[in-house]
Amino acid sequence: MKDNSIKSKLMRYMDAGFPIIYINTFEEDKADDLIRSVSRGREVYEWNGTCGYMDFQTKAPMMEDCSLEYMLDQHRTVDTLDRQAIVLKDVTPFFEDSKGVVNPENARVVSKLKGMARMINQGMADATILIIARTIVIPPELDNYITILEMEPLSDAEIRDVIRTFISDNRMRMVREELIEEMAMAFKGLTEFEINNLLALSYAQDGELTRSDLKLIFDQKQQMIRKSGILEMIPLKETIDDIGGLENLKTWFRRKAKVYKNLNKAEAFGVDMPKGVLIAGISGCGKSLTAKAATSLFEVPLLRLDMGRLMGKYVGESEENMRKATALAEAISPCVLWIDEIEKAFAGIGGTGGGAEVTTRLFGNFLTWMQEKRSPVFVVATANDVTKLPPELLRKGRFDEIFYVGLPKKGERRRIFEIHIQKRRPQDLAAIDLNELAAKTEGFSGADIEGVIKDAIESAFADDKDRIQTQDVLTAIRNTHSLSEIMKEDLDRLAKIYETGNFKNASK
Ligand code: ATP
Repeated sequence: MKDNSIKSKLMRYMDAGFPIIYINTFEEDKADDLIRSVSRGREVYEWNGTCGYMDFQTKAPMMEDCSLEYMLDQHRTVDTLDRQAIVLKDVTPFFEDSKGVVNPENARVVSKLKGMARMINQGMADATILIIARTIVIPPELDNYITILEMEPLSDAEIRDVIRTFISDNRMRMVREELIEEMAMAFKGLTEFEINNLLALSYAQDGELTRSDLKLIFDQKQQMIRKSGILEMIPLKETIDDIGGLENLKTWFRRKAKVYKNLNKAEAFGVDMPKGVLIAGISGCGKSLTAKAATSLFEVPLLRLDMGRLMGKYVGESEENMRKATALAEAISPCVLWIDEIEKAFAGIGGTGGGAEVTTRLFGNFLTWMQEKRSPVFVVATANDVTKLPPELLRKGRFDEIFYVGLPKKGERRRIFEIHIQKRRPQDLAAIDLNELAAKTEGFSGADIEGVIKDAIESAFADDKDRIQTQDVLTAIRNTHSLSEIMKEDLDRLAKIYETGNFKNASK
């Protein structure tokens, strides 16, 4: 069981004399239980932002309105620290400004903690400092002394136990085993506290647990993703039929979807779990559209990883964020994890200086995760410029396939025109000469074509026409500077790379 493993981990850390253990959780009560269960024979003191300095076991105040600094002063010598555990809550604000403007009180707190940690580290005092916090903020001065302990999400069996306990505690009617199973799947990634809250909410609504409560759980998951600030859940409207052309890519996705939707059966048959795909190619040719449409095909949620937000400002924060994002995606799996403009995240690898080092480490973590992940998180990485990507990423085996999306060919342009006219003015479609439009738009991207249709419709409306005709679209085409005109040099350069590299053409 997970709880035992975290307990034994904590015991091992404390026995080994790790000076500061950072328990990352927002279930303070659970963290308290955990500490209580391992603190035999030690005096335990607590400081928190609401009550100040207190006895941890009895919660009796030692001194009211006591500042953190003053509390630490009471335990700064070998005699006053030995055989003790110090539990600190609400302390991250004292760590926040360690790289910006220095607040003298914060600096004193950090240096006192460092002094205590050194005494423990050197074996002068047998003690542990336990920080309980919902976010991880580590000042560089304490980086070497801190060990992070994550309260892991519950296992499937533990979740089922929580549901069953809730049902029996509330003397509810029996709930079908299949529903418990479905709820347990939906609760994956939530904490015990969150699960109990949601069960209570569902129960309060109509006195029972039913399938309709699954929606509530799903909404809660979205909240959780939003709170993480690094992942974003993208609503899906697009289907695979909204993509014009790119037939090779679409066929590939259809096959993967078949595997993905029947994972157990496929694995039993000997099929590998799909890992992910890298889609490279110039802007506006449907990479993002493909990420969304493919996810609809897989019938799972789409999570976008914001690499910009992932890069944190504290030591270890970026790696921690990356770890969190992948853990969250795994908790939510099956899902698609979309890493947009992956080249931006991993540019500067192998260089020197702090920033480059962080990027290199981050990249290493990402590769290991891609290699080792066992949960059904399908990665869709998109990139505009592969020349900025580290070659390791393009090596065979990292992704299931690497596709190159180029400018659409004539037949593809015809279909893209058809899709966008169908979307906005289906009644006008029959009378429009799609072949002529396709012939006149060599070098246009999908996004250019969409822009042309939007312009033509807006002009027709402004000129009080009652529909759009081929002529209106041709006028809009003449007024548009296509992507290939604007970026000719870049396009030629990239086209050469794609022709010679390991890339599979997305178009037939
Ligand atoms: P960027 O790298 O700039 O994000 P992208 O390659 O991801 O570009 P998309 O965002 O997918 O491009 O394309 C922009 C819009 O252009 C899409 O929302 C879609 O409306 C249209 N479009 C592009 N390619 C196609 C296509 N093959 N079929 C239909 N529409 C397309």
